[in-house]
Amino acid sequence: MRENNLDYLLKHLELPARVPADVWRTLLAEPSAGHREQLALLAREVAQRHFGKGVYVRALIEISSYCRNNCNYCGLRCSNSLAQRYRLSKEEILECCRKASALGFNTFVLQGGEDPQQTDEWLADVVAAIRAEFPSKAITLSVGERSMAGYSLLCKAGADRYLLRHETANESHYSHLHPANMNLDNRLCCLENLKALGYQVGSGMMVGSPGQTVEHLVEDLMLLDRLQPQMIGIGPFIPAAGTPFAGEKPGSVDCTLLLISLLRLRFPKALIPATTALATLDGNGTQRAILAGANVVMPNVTPLDCRTKYSIYDNKKSSGCESAQQLDLLAEKLKEIGYKINFSRGDYNEAER
Ligand code: SAM
Ligand code: SF4
Repeated sequence: MRENNLDYLLKHLELPARVPADVWRTLLAEPSAGHREQLALLAREVAQRHFGKGVYVRALIEISSYCRNNCNYCGLRCSNSLAQRYRLSKEEILECCRKASALGFNTFVLQGGEDPQQTDEWLADVVAAIRAEFPSKAITLSVGERSMAGYSLLCKAGADRYLLRHETANESHYSHLHPANMNLDNRLCCLENLKALGYQVGSGMMVGSPGQTVEHLVEDLMLLDRLQPQMIGIGPFIPAAGTPFAGEKPGSVDCTLLLISLLRLRFPKALIPATTALATLDGNGTQRAILAGANVVMPNVTPLDCRTKYSIYDNKKSSGCESAQQLDLLAEKLKEIGYKINFSRGDYNEAER
């Protein structure tokens, strides 16, 4: 990419029209370290214009390590005999919410495998209990593919937001990553249903998953442009023991950071987390992601004995924020780069755009 070309390419990211594939392709094609730094600088300026130097925090509760699915990349896949299984009860989830609330969190994220015992009705009852006890907090769910009726029930019970990464926008790559009973169309249909129900929707892809090419990433970015999600979660693929991809190499930290910057420039108001996967591969991953344009961190408040069992990939970073002391450590890390925790709900706000 020539120096004078960068400004021209970046102009496309500011226009309302869809960004052409060539533009994404050129921006992704092996940029120099200088270009990456320049993009990160521009991206954090955009983030700061909209969010100041505040980073939203969400309390992450991993509600079950059981999953009916068999995604080839994930340590929780049903056929992984090395996986340790647990599921939290309604009371345990409420207790996590109480602790998180006492620490100042205003968003709870309930994430888990597609656990056949955590039915739509069971989960709706849990969500309703959280909503009754914490009327003003945001409730985010990330519990996979469900029917329109299931999503509707959960929405009526009080869920506000839903995270469902599309993982990859390319059909044959999707088939490489998933068993035959899962397909991209269904994933995309779920995302459309969630949008239609009025959820704030999050999507995104794994970076460097086995078989991924630059062309696949171009398709991912074009899909996000069509979908216009309010939240965009991307993290590097990390191999997980006991899965078909256990011997594959992890995704690139630099490529993930570059994508965060491009996403921030294209979606100025989006809620973009510094993911645990990034922090797992790079000790400074959280700080680097924020300096590349991310504006959300999701500290883990799952009970410690379960947290190690939610092993979606190897060596998953397990430091969380179950105590005020650990939250102070996060605040300290953010302060080192001139940022601070923003405890407000941090809803997506299109109007401010
Ligand atoms: N079951 C729900 C789902 O699949 O949407 C939510 C839980 S799932 C563990 C959350 C995310 O973890 C997935 O969307 C996927 O992107 C990510 N993930 C799973 N295995 C991974 C791996 N080996 N490396 C990096 N991310 C992974
Ligand atoms: Fe289950 Fe989600 Fe893991 Fe797939 S990625 S196996 S759906 S927990």
